[in-house]
Amino acid sequence: MKPTHIEHLGIAVKSLEESIPYYENLLGTKCYNVEEVKDQHVKTAFFLVGQTKIELLESTDSEGPIGKFLEKKGEGIHHLALAVENVNDALAEAETQGLALIDKVARKGAEGMSIGFLHPKSTHGVLIEFCTK
Ligand code: ZN
Repeated sequence: MKPTHIEHLGIAVKSLEESIPYYENLLGTKCYNVEEVKDQHVKTAFFLVGQTKIELLESTDSEGPIGKFLEKKGEGIHHLALAVENVNDALAEAETQGLALIDKVARKGAEGMSIGFLHPKSTHGVLIEFCTK
């Protein structure tokens, strides 16, 4: 499951409308895609920095994962996404190593990516996402 690179960093924000201009200014680049991921109850906004993206996540439902995160921790870094060749293989390998999974099999994320999450209880507090284009 050796990752090829850091695909993106997911950052929870209260409002895309308020955060996008800040990140456009900070990164010196325009947001190139805004997309809603209905099953995750989020609206996402993407920026490209080198080959790594920044993914802003705004909650569309206070009971969803980002809604709960914002309530508990406030705005901030939510997850680290590692590009792997095959998400299902990476999840299976992580499980054989004794890591807890949120997703047993890959599901569809933003930008048509195949994604799967490890559980932060066994990853030293950082929510890890595997993803493949
Ligand atoms: Zn992500």
